[in-house]
Amino acid sequence: MRFNDKSLNEFLTCKVGNGKRIRFWKDLWFGEKQLMYRWPALFAGDRDKNATVADKIKQVEGRVILDERWVIRADTVAAVSEIAVVKKSFRKEVNMQQIQQMKWVSWVPIKVNILLWRIEMDRVATRLALVKRNIQIQDTSCPLCNVDAETSSHLFVNCGFSYGVWSDIWAWCKLYPVGFNSIKEILTWMESIQMSVWGKKLIRGMVMITCWSLWKERNNKVFHDSTPKVIEVVANVKSLSFLWFKYRSSRSDIEWNEWVKYPLYIL
Ligand SMILES: [Zn+2]
Repeated sequence: MRFNDKSLNEFLTCKVGNGKRIRFWKDLWFGEKQLMYRWPALFAGDRDKNATVADKIKQVEGRVILDERWVIRADTVAAVSEIAVVKKSFRKEVNMQQIQQMKWVSWVPIKVNILLWRIEMDRVATRLALVKRNIQIQDTSCPLCNVDAETSSHLFVNCGFSYGVWSDIWAWCKLYPVGFNSIKEILTWMESIQMSVWGKKLIRGMVMITCWSLWKERNNKVFHDSTPKVIEVVANVKSLSFLWFKYRSSRSDIEWNEWVKYPLYIL
């Protein structure tokens, strides 16, 4: 079976070596902001603004090594001092193995894939995560429910607001799992369900998009003081997943009227 000249297998295979897909400077894959803003002098001097993580760093015997060609080009004072900081932070915090083991879903944009990976590694800047890094914050409660402290597992799974969103998403997919306490539990459950590889890719993408939409809703509340609404997040998941699936997966034959009723109809 072929879609637009790609065999189904090629399309579905979990891509390995995700470091070849994450853009080193422009994607938010490490720390709280894109590295182009964190290390501007190095970025300015780099001819390859779209370089990938794999272009810049590699891991040799457990140690993170910077690509030499890049280091040599750092010729201003600011860039040289940034290089020292880069080396130090990467030595402490980057785990290439985790990057390579990240399970990729190609029909979902890279930024959304990266968010799920950051959640799995507990690297999302929730309020409690910031407090742990000694950043002063008055209110550590969850912006969506104002009940519990905002940790990653609370925000994305245990929060009453998020629970409402997940319930609607599972019902839409006609899946009725038991309760979860963490994203890891959701991912483990997904691996265990009896479904085609194709179906699992679809569900994994849905989980990514649901987390993405929850994070957006949370940020809208924090930065724009909007009122979080379950129904809006759910509607967002449905339309984003439709658009991305239709235009990124070569399955341009899917129909909105069917999708919005039951997305797994395509299986
Ligand atoms: Zn909450």
